[in-house]
Amino acid sequence: MEVLKKVEKALEKDLCDHCLGRLFAQLGHGVTNEERGKALRIVHAMMETTEEKRENVPEEAGTCETCENLFDELNKFAELVSEELNKFEFEDFLVGSRIDPEIEEREEKLWTELNLNTAEQIKSEINREVGKKIQEMIDKEVDLEKPDIKAIIDTRFDSIEIEISPLFIYGRYKKLDRNIPQTRWPCKRCRGKGCEKCDGTGKMYETSVEEIIGDPLVKAFSGDDFTLHGMGREDIDAKMLGDGRPFVLEIKNPKKRYKDLEKSEEKINKSDAVKVSSLRVTEREKVIEIKQARSDKSYKVKMGMKEAVDRTKFKKVLDELRCKDISQKTPSRVSHRRSDKVRKRRIKEIGLLSLDNKEAILKITSEAGTYIKEFIHGDDGRTQPNLSDELSTRCEVKELDVLKIHYPEGCDQDEKVKRN
Ligand SMILES: [Zn+2]
Ligand SMILES: [Zn+2]
Repeated sequence: MEVLKKVEKALEKDLCDHCLGRLFAQLGHGVTNEERGKALRIVHAMMETTEEKRENVPEEAGTCETCENLFDELNKFAELVSEELNKFEFEDFLVGSRIDPEIEEREEKLWTELNLNTAEQIKSEINREVGKKIQEMIDKEVDLEKPDIKAIIDTRFDSIEIEISPLFIYGRYKKLDRNIPQTRWPCKRCRGKGCEKCDGTGKMYETSVEEIIGDPLVKAFSGDDFTLHGMGREDIDAKMLGDGRPFVLEIKNPKKRYKDLEKSEEKINKSDAVKVSSLRVTEREKVIEIKQARSDKSYKVKMGMKEAVDRTKFKKVLDELRCKDISQKTPSRVSHRRSDKVRKRRIKEIGLLSLDNKEAILKITSEAGTYIKEFIHGDDGRTQPNLSDELSTRCEVKELDVLKIHYPEGCDQDEKVKRN
């Protein structure tokens, strides 16, 4: 048989049981390569023609011509890795490796020589076998898909490199200040280096929602940096009220993972500008989920009018705009960074909260992506219909607050979270 011939040829080589078994790794599951290698030697001996040969199962080579006995070092690798891993907090891990290229070349040559398509790479076996040993040593699981931490062994230098997966924290924030942006905003002139214009800070604004939330958290989890992923964003001069805007804070390179989030929440909430709630650890997928969510939003709008409008007329105009689609060309204030196109958005609810001479307060609920300021002032006719035209007087937004983001219920939880 074809395979037996290949086994016979392989047995002529000076190989260790691992490297022998690994050549036929695709044949028969549930055994290690080492066990498979041993078994091949036994079976081969059993099929010998003379009794003497049948009794003396050939032993593995003194020095393996493929790996030069790299597998004798498995325990040492496992110890090196666990020692390194012990410096971090994590739930599960993965072992990777960099193998001497000469070893990899030798094994590939052997595959060609024996015309094999059943072999496994030495790297995979090293990773798996070291992983098994560490699993026992530190009582943590290997996770092939989404490990918290990855240890890469360089087998030539016995060195370990650590890669830590980011930590994702979900929550909601309120913004009570009309002077701070959602995310860090580098100075346009120096691009973050610090110059006269920005007083050496490198920033256009002293702080941001991102920094107020991120600074205490990155410290608590001993991370290197952070990014705030918000479910949309409000304008700098708009407040974010109600139960807040969903966000995920991504902490890069967190050396710790088990910190009391309530304590961090307390620290963040000492700020007058930003308040957070329902902080919890989540998974990377949550970032995509909140980035793709298209939620309706409710706003409180304080607006001024050039001429006073009578209450009855005002209410009638609002009645006509309720449940209407409006067309919005990309606003002139953002057209330099967004493609110019027409969007249709629905005004789902609009009502008058108060009217006092040339000032009115409205509550508006609209579809995701509606430009509220443009709907009020009209943006030189780029939004149709708009309130300025309908009221026949120039209207301007004085204050804009987001009252509620209608994020579908249940989205504050998710099921497949490993912790909490
Ligand atoms: Zn070997
Ligand atoms: Zn600057």
